[in-house]
This record gives sequence, structure tokens and C-alpha cells, in this order.
Amino acid sequence: MANPKRKWSKARTSRHRSLWKLSVPGLVECPQCHMKMLRHKVCKTCGYLDGKEIVKIDVTAS
Ligand SMILES: [Zn+2]
Repeated sequence: MANPKRKWSKARTSRHRSLWKLSVPGLVECPQCHMKMLRHKVCKTCGYLDGKEIVKIDVTAS
């Protein structure tokens, strides 16, 4: 089957990619401690993910 070489021009692809990188940095605000955390990762500050405590963070030690 004949395939089109590309759907978009190179310029459009690179523009699209750079925008995607900007818009999805993987950083969200933690609903527990409102610090910036990595999306879909356990929050490093409070150890919460999806409203559940996944990792016990020792707040007394620091
Ligand atoms: Zn947190």
C-alpha cells in the first residue's frame, strides 16, 4: 500500500513537539501538601498518591 511520506511538515511537527513538551512537564500540584510533584508518582513531600499515604515520610527527622 502506498503511504504518504508525512502527514505534517517538519516545521509543524517540531512546533507540535515543543508545545507538547511545554504543556506536559509531568508536574502537578499535590492535593495534600500543595507542593509541585511528579504526576502519577508518589509525592516526595508528603508521600501521598491518589489521596492515600503510600510512603511514610518521617516529618520529625530533618
Ligand atoms: Zn504532597
